[in-house]
Formats: sequence, C-alpha cells, structure tokens
Amino acid sequence: MNTAGEKKINVRKQQKMYLLKRLPWYILGCLLFYAPFALFNKGIAWVLGDKADPNIHSTCFRIPIVELFTRGKFDIMSAWGLSLTILFVSALLVGPFFCGRLCTAGALGEYMSRLVSDKAKIDWTRYVNPAPLRYGFFAGFVIAPVVTGALNCAYCSYGFFERMITGGIWGDIGALGSSTILTAGLWLGLFGVFTKGGRGYCNFMCPVGAAQSFLHSIGARLPFTYKLKYKKSACISCAGCVKACPMGALKLNDGKGNGISYSIHNCITCRQCTSACPTGAISYGTGERGWSLAPPTATPQSAPLKEGA
Ligand code: SF4
Ligand code: SF4
Repeated sequence: MNTAGEKKINVRKQQKMYLLKRLPWYILGCLLFYAPFALFNKGIAWVLGDKADPNIHSTCFRIPIVELFTRGKFDIMSAWGLSLTILFVSALLVGPFFCGRLCTAGALGEYMSRLVSDKAKIDWTRYVNPAPLRYGFFAGFVIAPVVTGALNCAYCSYGFFERMITGGIWGDIGALGSSTILTAGLWLGLFGVFTKGGRGYCNFMCPVGAAQSFLHSIGARLPFTYKLKYKKSACISCAGCVKACPMGALKLNDGKGNGISYSIHNCITCRQCTSACPTGAISYGTGERGWSLAPPTATPQSAPLKEGA
C-alpha cells in the first residue's frame, strides 16, 4: 500500500495539463457567445425568427429579470428568456458548467494569472469569505437596473471581452470610460493576474456565476444531479486539490489529516481538484455529496500549505 509520501504528486504539472485540456472548451465558449461569432445566440435568433444581429447582450440574463420586475412579464420565447432558462436549468442539474467550461471571460483571468509568480498573488479567500460578497454583488447588479433604470453594462466583463474581440475598444473611445477601465482593472488586474487562481472577479463580482452557484447549491441536494463528491476515508489531506482550486473553494481543515472543507457557493465545477487528487477522494457525478451541507457562515479554516505537498 502506498504511503502518503509516495502518493505526493506534482500538482503544478497536473494543473498545466488540465489547463491545456480545458482550453478548447473556452475557445468553444468564445465562438458560441461572443460577436462576431455568437453561434449560440445566432441559433436562438434563428429558432425565434429574430432578424437582429446577435451579440453577447442577446443572452444577458438581467434583462428578462428587469422586465419581470418592471413590467410583470417574463417572455420565455425570447433570446433572453430562452438563454436564462437554459442557464438556470443546467446549473440546477450539472452545476455552473458554463463557468467551469465555457466562460472565456472568466478563463482569461485564470490563464493570465499563470504567467505571474505566486509570490505576487493574493489569496483573498484566506482573509474573506467570498460567498456573502458574491451574492451581495449579484443582488445589487440585478436590483440596480430596476431602481435606476440603467443596466450599467460598463461593469460587465463580458461586454469588455466582446469589445476586445471585435476591436470595439479601440474604435470606440467614448465607451472606454472610467467605469469600464475600473472593471477591466479589477477583472484582469487586481482580481485576475494578481489573485491566486486568477478568478477573483468570478468569485466576488460575477452575477452570472453567483446565480448559477445559488441554484447549484439547491440542485446538489438531489441524488440525480451532478455535483462534486468527497470521500473522506480516501483523503490523505495532501492539499493537492486545495492548491489546484482557482476559486479557493477548498480548504484543509487543520493540516492534521482531518480532510478538507468545501464551499459550494464559490465552486465553478471546473474539476481541477478531481484531476489533482491522487486518491480519487474527490469526484464529480450523481449521488450523495459526502460534504457537510452547512452554509458558509465563515471563511473555512485554512492550514498553511507546504511546498510540494
Ligand atoms: S472545488 Fe474543484 S470544481 Fe470547484 S472550483 Fe475548486 S477546483 Fe473547480
Ligand atoms: S481530496 Fe484533496 S486533500 Fe484529499 S487526497 Fe484528494 S487532493 Fe489530497
């Protein structure tokens, strides 16, 4: 039987391999949702017989919510209504699949952060529990348009990313205002390149991710849905999964072999942890979760990680 020492793995190497494996998914996400490609958005427009030229705003989930609050109607047979329904049903059944596989804007920060030394990065989740901030920002992002009548699209990383692809940033100086620059600075700078895992924006500021996480936290209670599962008896507390997680959703309980804790509210089901686990203690599938269902009222205790653990 292998000892814990023999089971130690080169997590960094595995992470690189897994990043490469996920790359085609994010390229697919770019082709599906962002203009000038927007294949998903165009497909929905075709189904609906809509002649408008779709872009990332065609699938914005805030617009049908604002309509619901302001006009009291939800038109499911619209590009927004259909996209929102698909997003929410998929989050209930398989978790935030969009975040973990298809969201190119989220992945950009994560991939760029690999270019920077770990010493220059901040692990925000060691100091603050992201879940309340995440849901608080989500509530503000959804409620603000209802109250102010403005969608505040300048604070959306998706819009910025699309303009990066189409050249809209450089051709439209007027739209490059202070709020857009602030968003880009937080998304790719402070919360991207200089954050452990590169997903600080996803963790704290993305309303699409927050909505999916909330639905996943409900769906994961059902036996037939897909979720991250944990088998404590197989866990050797090596912290490979903790290091691999770009969202800081996993923490060592105490560093004394008592396993790990998990916050479903900031997990994007990217499954980097499953690929980093040498014992198969973490997996993704249907059935019982194996984690505590306690809500994340405090930042999970995080024991210091040893290099090469
Ligand atoms: S816990 Fe696992 S699946 Fe969830 S975000 Fe972290 S690495 Fe990805
Ligand atoms: S679940 Fe995490 S801490 Fe436990 S054995 Fe797997 S990688 Fe190591």
